[in-house]
Amino acid sequence: MTNDVADRTNLYDLAPQELRATLAEVVSPPFRIKQIAEWVHVHGVDSFDAMSNIPKELRARLAERYTLEFPHVVERTEPAPDGSVKYLSVLGDGNRIESVYMPMRDRTSVCLSSQAGCAVGCTFCVTGFFGAGRNLTPSEMLGQLFTVQHEHHVPAEMTNVVFMGMGEPLLNFDFLVTALDIMYATIAPKRITVSTSGIIPGIEDLARLDRRPNLAISINAPDRKRREEIMPITKKYPLDELIAALKKYPAEKGRDITVEYVLLAGYNDAPADAVALARLIRGLHAKVNAIPFNTDPNLPPWMKRPTDEAIDLFVDTLVRNEVAVTVRRSKGREIAAACGQLRGRTERKRRRVIPSVSEEPGRAGTRSR
Ligand code: SF4
Repeated sequence: MTNDVADRTNLYDLAPQELRATLAEVVSPPFRIKQIAEWVHVHGVDSFDAMSNIPKELRARLAERYTLEFPHVVERTEPAPDGSVKYLSVLGDGNRIESVYMPMRDRTSVCLSSQAGCAVGCTFCVTGFFGAGRNLTPSEMLGQLFTVQHEHHVPAEMTNVVFMGMGEPLLNFDFLVTALDIMYATIAPKRITVSTSGIIPGIEDLARLDRRPNLAISINAPDRKRREEIMPITKKYPLDELIAALKKYPAEKGRDITVEYVLLAGYNDAPADAVALARLIRGLHAKVNAIPFNTDPNLPPWMKRPTDEAIDLFVDTLVRNEVAVTVRRSKGREIAAACGQLRGRTERKRRRVIPSVSEEPGRAGTRSR
């Protein structure tokens, strides 16, 4: 008898070893398990019928017990001038999430969401404005990636992954690690970046992994007072403790920590702020990614994008202070910087959720506040 879809295990939710053990209950001989695992982890198929070297009868048996369901894409933006496309997808429970396809000259980056909302409440972020949402499962994270790869015919070896979409990935640590373990079948850890608002226990957990993705940290202010104003998570994880944790993060050759810095006109974009930022991150193996703010009607009206001159001056000051820096200037890239805006445009504004920063990193199966 066929189980309801809700009762069937999504094979993308299983870590590689778990997948093989689960399949062994119904599949033999062992080489068939290997073939099926390859369809899942390497080809990222979303239907058992696509497994062309698996006998039809076995495919039917698998479909009775398991699913390969991905988030369902409900909207795609028109390609930006640089080709970037943002996706809005709906999950099985009706939650909506965003992902972004960003083609580059010699590779493609795919920006993924890790939660269906965010409780961290950064004041410059639309996702934070709309408040908390549950943790995404591994299949919901992997589905975003495979959907973009399939639609744009992007081979895995040309793919970079960035967890910079909706949510705080380190508050969904266990599911994130399962998704990473599956991605590693085709994408090297050095081509995957996890961006955090500064969840210190999560950074320490990441540091203990045998295989680590790149780390990006969203700093956005050169001192504790301003960081507390725009990133309330700073009250729980103070800036000096965060920097100390980053200094202990294992350095790997050619894999600097990325310090993200959203530039807000008249707030954190002065040359003196660049000097203070350079001083703050001195001693870290880090490069700065300066991200000019992207205006949104849901966000405070005082938040504005700096002029190009102010951006140039900020960047030049960092360079003069021996900090490696890149600027995210292109319009297409900004759609990734502005996570939550596509959903925000289509979602009726809800009561503003007062963010809580009092919980420890989420664990598998928990809901993100
Ligand atoms: S910037 Fe990231 S951590 Fe901050 S509220 Fe937005 S999604 Fe959450």
